[in-house]
Amino acid sequence: MIERAGGPAVRIPAGRLLIGGAWCEAIDGRTIAVYDPATEEKIADIAVASAADVGRAVEAAHRTFESRVWQKLRPLDRGRLLERLALLVERDAEELARLETLDNGKPFAVSRNVDMKFAMDALRYYGGWSSKISGEYIALSPFFDDGGTYRAYTERKPVGVVGGITPWNFPMGQAIQKIAPAIAFGCTIVLKPSEEASLTTLRLGELILEAGFPEGAVNIVTGYGHEAGQALVDHPLVRKIAFTGSTATGQKILESSARQMKRVTLELGGKSPAIVLADADLNRAIPGAANAIFPNSGQVCTAGSRLFVEASIYDEVARGVAEIARNLRLGSGFDPVNELGPLISARQLERVSSLVSSGVEEGAQPLCGAGRAAGKGYFFQPTVLSGARADMRIAREEVFGPVVLAMPFTDLRTIKALANDTVYGLGASIWTRDLNKAHLLADQIDAGTVWINTHNILDTAMPFGGTKMSGLGREFGSEVIHAYTEPRAVCMRLDGAGLA
Ligand code: NDP
Repeated sequence: MIERAGGPAVRIPAGRLLIGGAWCEAIDGRTIAVYDPATEEKIADIAVASAADVGRAVEAAHRTFESRVWQKLRPLDRGRLLERLALLVERDAEELARLETLDNGKPFAVSRNVDMKFAMDALRYYGGWSSKISGEYIALSPFFDDGGTYRAYTERKPVGVVGGITPWNFPMGQAIQKIAPAIAFGCTIVLKPSEEASLTTLRLGELILEAGFPEGAVNIVTGYGHEAGQALVDHPLVRKIAFTGSTATGQKILESSARQMKRVTLELGGKSPAIVLADADLNRAIPGAANAIFPNSGQVCTAGSRLFVEASIYDEVARGVAEIARNLRLGSGFDPVNELGPLISARQLERVSSLVSSGVEEGAQPLCGAGRAAGKGYFFQPTVLSGARADMRIAREEVFGPVVLAMPFTDLRTIKALANDTVYGLGASIWTRDLNKAHLLADQIDAGTVWINTHNILDTAMPFGGTKMSGLGREFGSEVIHAYTEPRAVCMRLDGAGLA
């Protein structure tokens, strides 16, 4: 338990590994200290899984995948497991949200009303999919005629053991985003959360046992990416990697996976444009542009970090977003007045600070923020930079902090080139009252999701993922079935009794 002045205590799960339905220590007993990013105080220790621990977890997942218990479980009953887990998350949502806020720093209201709500919704959404997996009948035209009658159908088979690797920005939601489709489509999974924020995933492991999942269906190994994550990627019994994180790590994973032809889905970084046209309703567009970048302290892969504004309204929009940024209250996620929490770690604070400094050195001018906040905790002030150029380092790299570059444009015909001048292609938003312009521009932007008069609306029913260096494959929606199953064609020759 962690006691907090003025609020309920937060129960900390034991920092062990979940392997084959039981909690255990790492074989060599190593641990990592976990810190509250708002206070820099130590809150827990979690186990460091070695390659040998990952091997044990993968073997457990493989045994379960091959077992009659798992193979014979009715699809509807896999869905019921996910529904039971959703009910337990609902029961413990307050406690889970407190734990998320302690470990990640985000405001409690966000943990409770966004992260936990998403977790429950996603469990239920995928639970529904478990009984809707179907194949197709195929009319054949065999190219040789041996007088036989042929029939063929396809069925979708689960890929096998999935290795899930998740980041620290939405720890619980990301864990569910990997576990729920794996289970719904009949796979088993070994999940490695980020060592920066593993606590809600460990608590989720306790709920998975309580929900009665078969032993080994879901295994959780905490530890370092380069060690436990890499061991998962390299293990021959893992047939698919589902990864969310940085583009650099995604590239490494893709290279390693190629050796064993593993199936891979990668949900990676972004540098998403928010584009405000002169005819936009500025009462919505200005708060909308601020809301595209600042929530979760900018640690969102689809964050609208490049704000393109038509020149005639540029000053009003840039000043308006800066005004909102200046008024956002930073502080402990447990104090309800605070709207933004800290960055996840000292390393992330250093990374954001150095990118902002590089932007200022290269000529960008801060309209607000541009430095860390005074006092304890990894807080960075919400920042609007004006005068940035597309060739600056800060305009090209993902910052993953509360930092937006405001840039004017004069000619609508240049928007396609400006918005697409990035290696990324995850999200984009267009703010306008003109439906023609909205749809014609949406068509020109190379991104997995284009929002119109809104930003960052995600829904489990809507496919999500990136083009270019933002990733491979899609999560959510009906597309996800391709990520966790493969088609098997069954072809038969029918003979007999004068009927064929
Ligand atoms: P990483 O991509 O390194 O981490 C994401 C996950 O991958 C973590 O679980 C990490 O483990 C794991 N990992 C790291 N190396 C390997 C490997 N070789 N094989 C398998 N798994 C591995 O992101 P960082 O935490 O270093 O963040 C750096 C930057 O990445 C951020 O500033 C941001 O720009 C971007 N990012 C993007 C995210 C997104 O949602 N698109 C999410 C997080 C980060 P561990 O953390 O335990 O080392």
